[in-house]
Amino acid sequence: MSFKSPKYLDFITELDQLKSRDQFRSLVSISDKSSKYITIKDKKYLNLSSNDYLGLANDAELLEEFSETVYKDKLFSKLGMSSASSRLLTGNHELYEKLEDELCKLYDREASLVFSSGYHANTGIISAITKKGDLILSDKLNHASIIDGMRLSRADFLRYNHLDYEHLEKLLEINHCKYKSILVISESIFSMDGDRADLKKLVDLKNKYNSILMIDEAHAAGIFGNNGCGICEEDNLIKDIDIIIGTFGKALASVGAYAIFDKTIKEYLINKMRPLIFTTALPALNLCWTLMIIRALPELKSRRQHLSEISDFMRNSLRNNGFVTGGESQIIPVIIGENDKTVKISQRLKDAGIWLLPIRPPTVPDGTSRLRISLSASLQKGDISKIPDIIKGEPI
Ligand code: PMP
Repeated sequence: MSFKSPKYLDFITELDQLKSRDQFRSLVSISDKSSKYITIKDKKYLNLSSNDYLGLANDAELLEEFSETVYKDKLFSKLGMSSASSRLLTGNHELYEKLEDELCKLYDREASLVFSSGYHANTGIISAITKKGDLILSDKLNHASIIDGMRLSRADFLRYNHLDYEHLEKLLEINHCKYKSILVISESIFSMDGDRADLKKLVDLKNKYNSILMIDEAHAAGIFGNNGCGICEEDNLIKDIDIIIGTFGKALASVGAYAIFDKTIKEYLINKMRPLIFTTALPALNLCWTLMIIRALPELKSRRQHLSEISDFMRNSLRNNGFVTGGESQIIPVIIGENDKTVKISQRLKDAGIWLLPIRPPTVPDGTSRLRISLSASLQKGDISKIPDIIKGEPI
């Protein structure tokens, strides 16, 4: 059927509107990738838009170690490329149990559960553990997967102002007697601003109002804490947070996600969580790689340290050049404001061989279009030192 069919006219109009507002998105094909560079249409770019924060996804030594294991133990033929079923049927390879045991050891907690993605984890957990008569309180800048989880839930939900714990407390105070249970959700490092939640404050509030606290560490797992468990470890609060979410697709260089909690929540989710029950399990070969990364994680301190150093260097040099930036992590926003200006600067960076994509509404609030610099431990200061000049448009 032709795309010009009259029944698609509304879609075409909407797409035209997105184009006129510089908000149109499209997919680009990556033909080659290393820990620093990507190749698109035969041109190589320095990659500043990836979430491979520790630089592990294309690490030659790790890939060599993995391929030797795969070859030596004949893993390809033993494990195959598909689990061909949900975890509840025949997709639950024993590597799931090994990975979950390893996660429990790493966090020193009773239970963990692995999911197909962070999107599955957030939409599934939030909608499973909240019901009609419950309330969800969520930071205003929480990720789309958290918002979608709230939309799927039958509970009421309210959003508190970003990092505004006085506002959160007001909402808890007003509502804690009206609802059966309250779930408070925050990211630890925010995905578009790179700023950090006050987990101690959140734990104090959840204890004061007897609520459940869920923290999404997607952009902190692997990067913060002595063993790489995230901000919950750095702040010494692993045991105080009811549900800790981490994703494998970012610093942990794989795909999938996990949650850390008590055994009762694990059992409840296995029985109630639709995006766990009704989706095909991860391939065992992938679980095998993830397990290798999780076992290596505590030893990656020098990568964490280096990432922190180059992040401070980048943030300071942007500030010294008069840019509006922020955050306390490897995610460094350069707030430009208008969509068209942000797109133009991104194009200028592209011409200079740097892949740094513009982030526009609806991903971020109107008027805050930005370049989201996402650093990786595989970068050196020399790779990124010219970026402020290129953004400014000065000759290099
Ligand atoms: N939570 C946060 C905070 C995220 O930024 C993302 C992905 N960008 C997710 C969850 C979803 O994770 P995944 O990509 O594994 O679906």
